[in-house]
Amino acid sequence: MFPFFKKKSKDFVDETREEQAKDIEKLYPVELKEKMLAGEECDQISSATGEFGHSATNPIPVNGHWGEIKYIQRLRCACGAILLFHRLRSVEVSLINEPVDIFETVCIDGKHWDLLYLHLYHPRRSTFMPKGYTFSRFDPLYSKACFALGTNKIMEDFPFGMSTELAENLGGTMGDRFVKLYEKYVNDRSKFKRSQDHLKKLEIIAGINNIHSNLAQFESDHIEQSDLNTKNAEAYLKKGNAYSKEKNYDQAILNFTKAIEINSNFELAYKIRGHTFLTQGNLTQAILDFTKVIKMNPKDAEIYFGRSLAYFILRDYEKCWRDVHKAQELGYIVDQEFIDTLKKNSGR
Ligand SMILES: [Zn+2]
Repeated sequence: MFPFFKKKSKDFVDETREEQAKDIEKLYPVELKEKMLAGEECDQISSATGEFGHSATNPIPVNGHWGEIKYIQRLRCACGAILLFHRLRSVEVSLINEPVDIFETVCIDGKHWDLLYLHLYHPRRSTFMPKGYTFSRFDPLYSKACFALGTNKIMEDFPFGMSTELAENLGGTMGDRFVKLYEKYVNDRSKFKRSQDHLKKLEIIAGINNIHSNLAQFESDHIEQSDLNTKNAEAYLKKGNAYSKEKNYDQAILNFTKAIEINSNFELAYKIRGHTFLTQGNLTQAILDFTKVIKMNPKDAEIYFGRSLAYFILRDYEKCWRDVHKAQELGYIVDQEFIDTLKKNSGR
């Protein structure tokens, strides 16, 4: 694919590879440890697309849950301020192995709200920064000890109400002292107001940006349905989805196709099969499926964006532009970097 937009701090210092390996050894259960050690050692995932750290398809590689915290605590926004953060959820992304974590962040000045995407299945942390951020200087005590104003749990009243969580994460009297600092920063509700733009992004995160979450929604919506055909089609969809998670795309597509044979109006099956074709690089088939979904549901912004990716790879820029514009019209936030690359490639 097209890994672009790398940003590296000139004098970036982090814990050594040995220190990071020790963390992995010490802090994680065997299964997760093995996944991390087998993961790609990189600053940016090689199959990534879109803007680094700001899109689900280009998450920041880090090592484990503590790696996420250690990474985010080093980031500074444009004000130069430290970030408060919590983890909203995880999503499955078709080109990325294992789920991607979505964090909501805000600087302690309350000015910069953001969503950052991280991926914790790697042996070391990335040395790249997302656009708009710098790294703080490496501190041999604090940077190693995870003194962070955030957590990888979801905090319903974020950025408020995190005292207990932070105290537990750090422990001891240092933890208590740190919580006092947090409470000093975060006490004024008028300072932490999300912008309309940011709220819109949160809505999208909760909704359309994840085919597998749509599947979960579908399962809970349709659990009561007794129609046998529907159940059979749904069973094939689930089976296909399981194959897809194992990256067995041929078997996955076979099952999605069976689901569609039983129920020719099965929108979600076309949608997921289209994404699977796209993952496989079978662009013509992907476009056919996406087009079918668009006919059934012309308001599905994500599908227009999915189809635009297929056109982009096929270098059919006119059609790519058309779909990008349509996706935007429907409220989909397309990465600026993708737009810039499209502009460059299409000569517009
Ligand atoms: Zn800021």
